[in-house]
Amino acid sequence: MIRNTLLLSISLLLGSCGAHPPAPTDIAPVDLAALSAAERDSYLREAAAFFEKANIVGLPSLVECTLSGGAKTTCFSITVKPVPGDYTPGPWCPRNISDGKEKSGIWLDEGKIYDADGKFLQNLSDFYEDDEWQLFDPATGRVNVTDSKEKCAAAARPDVDEKYNNYCVECQLDYMPAESSVTYVIPVRPVASSNRSRTHGGAGVAINGIRLDEPAPLDAILDAHTLAPFDDCGGHVNLHVGYHYHAVTDCLVDKSGRTSGKYDAPVIGLAMDGYKILAHRLDNGELPGQLDSCQGHSSAEYGYHYHAGAAGSNRILACLSGQQGCSFEGSGETCDASVRRGPPGGGGPPPGATRPPPEPG
Ligand SMILES: [Zn+2]
Ligand SMILES: [Zn+2]
Repeated sequence: MIRNTLLLSISLLLGSCGAHPPAPTDIAPVDLAALSAAERDSYLREAAAFFEKANIVGLPSLVECTLSGGAKTTCFSITVKPVPGDYTPGPWCPRNISDGKEKSGIWLDEGKIYDADGKFLQNLSDFYEDDEWQLFDPATGRVNVTDSKEKCAAAARPDVDEKYNNYCVECQLDYMPAESSVTYVIPVRPVASSNRSRTHGGAGVAINGIRLDEPAPLDAILDAHTLAPFDDCGGHVNLHVGYHYHAVTDCLVDKSGRTSGKYDAPVIGLAMDGYKILAHRLDNGELPGQLDSCQGHSSAEYGYHYHAGAAGSNRILACLSGQQGCSFEGSGETCDASVRRGPPGGGGPPPGATRPPPEPG
């Protein structure tokens, strides 16, 4: 716990200079070869305890890694099944316009959360003021749903196959190969970044091992007259990364053992730069004041950390203050986040300057 105390005192120092706490800038890389057996053990225990609720494949390990800004440091590598261990995901699409909210998920629009129930799907042409919306058979009320692996693969992507325009898009977890897994390689201690960078390959990973993803590409989804609802926990499935979140809801907030209003907010996950992500609201229900442009600030309890965006915002994190690690499908890859792979974003322009990269579903 010496390390935690050190981090705490660093963040207290950084956080003590007025209304706009700067992003932390002076945390140095960790040399894996120089770590004692006890230090290694401590890092691994910490990672295992943090992800206690995750479906972990094997045990976390310590690896050398190159972060997005080029820093060579020590990361923990954790491979998880993209399936929450603590609840069953879904439902997403209602099957008939008569189906209520208990048979359907949610939709996000302009900061608000809507039940994506039968009535909502029925009224989409009014909601979006666009007569081309017709997700159901007017004669029977039956909703067009991508109810097979092939249909989900063709529709759950930014360039929706035209055949599936006017579909409610959902993919089931059992479309994923049983052995599918995702590996996260995250610095054991955050390393300073010369500039705040947009997230790429996810903002982070939740305490239950589920990816905290980029914003869903709502415009691309709506342009094809499709809806890809999230379940009430803010998650849905694509065939690449499995179940993932676009919103942080109460599902990730474990209120047990916490005293209301005592400190900050509950921890809901870890960002790809190694800083903790806390719930949107504090324990006492209030919003945290004075967040920086990456939704971060420092507190006595956690040092520098982020607060997840509001559930309706379709933005879990806006950017990251530290250098990012890696995530990839499967396991066994070496993390070099300084090499651009997959969709662009890391080390790019500040958030707001460009639209987020598209993601598969
Ligand atoms: Zn806070
Ligand atoms: Zn998605």
